Amino acid sequence: MKNSKDKKDSQKDNNFMDSKKEFEKTGNTTKEDLKVKGSVWKRIGSWLKNLVFPSHIKCIFCGDELNATDICDTCSNCYASLPKLDKSCLRCGGPIEDNNDGVCLNCKTNNFSFHSARSVFPYVDKVVDVIHRFKFGRGKFLCDAMAEYMCDLLSTWNISVDIITSVPLHKNREKTRGYNQSKLLAEYIADKFNLKYIDTVEKVVDNTAQATLDFKSRRENVKNVYKGISEAKPEIKGKNVLLIDDIYTTGATSNAVSEILKSMSAKEVYVLTFAHSVGEKTNAEIK
Ligand SMILES: [Zn+2]
Ligand SMILES: [Zn+2]
Repeated sequence: MKNSKDKKDSQKDNNFMDSKKEFEKTGNTTKEDLKVKGSVWKRIGSWLKNLVFPSHIKCIFCGDELNATDICDTCSNCYASLPKLDKSCLRCGGPIEDNNDGVCLNCKTNNFSFHSARSVFPYVDKVVDVIHRFKFGRGKFLCDAMAEYMCDLLSTWNISVDIITSVPLHKNREKTRGYNQSKLLAEYIADKFNLKYIDTVEKVVDNTAQATLDFKSRRENVKNVYKGISEAKPEIKGKNVLLIDDIYTTGATSNAVSEILKSMSAKEVYVLTFAHSVGEKTNAEIK
C-alpha cells in the first residue's frame, strides 16, 4: 500500500497544482470567468473526492475500480461474496464441521511442531485466483492488500509474537519468480506490527511441487529439504516466532519449518497464512 499510495499522492498533488494554476489565472469575474471558475471548482471537488476515494485503485479480487462504498482494496461486490472461514479448527485454523472439541480430523491424527495456525480465507473461488496471480502472474503489487487482511486477523489472534519469519523458497525458484511471496507478506506484517523480520530457514533441496502428493508423501517430501540458518539461532532462542506462508494445505510444510525452528530453540511457533486448503488437498501447495 505504501508504494502505490506515494504514487497516488503525487498524482493527486499534480492534479491539485493544475487546478490551482488554472484558478489563479482567472481575473475579474465575467460570464466566461464564472464558467472557468466553475470548472476549476469542479476539478478541485473531484480532486478532493479523489483524495478520499482514489478512483484508480482497483479491487484485488476482480480488478474493477473501487468507489466510495468499497472497503480496503476490495470492491463491495467481491467483499460480500468472499468465502469465509467462520468455523475453524482450534489447532490448524482450517474449516471444521460441527464438533465439540473444535479440532479437525487431520489435527487429531497428526502431531504438529507448531502451536497453532490461522488463515484468513478458505482456498476457493476468488481467493484461488488472487493467490495464483500473486505467485504466477506478476502479481507482486497484490502483496500489500493481501497482507492487510492477514494483519487484521493477527490483531484479533490472542498470541504473543517476538519475531516474524517466512517459509523459504529454493533459490532457483525465487530467482525465476523474482521474489518469495511469503517473505513479502511477512515483511509487510512485521513492519505493520513493528516486529523484526528475519530469515531463519533456507530451502536446500528443490523438491517436487507438493500439489500431487498425499499427506504422508508430503511429509516425506519436505523432510530434509529445509535447513536452519545458523546466524538466526541466537535471534530466535527462547522467542515466540510467527511463520508466514501464502497457503496452508496439509500442514506438512509448516510442520517441517516449525520443527527446525523448535530445534533452533524457538519457544513457540505460530503459523499465519492468507488461505487454507479445503476438502481435497490438491493444487494448493505449489511453491
Ligand atoms: Zn471486486
Ligand atoms: Zn485442524
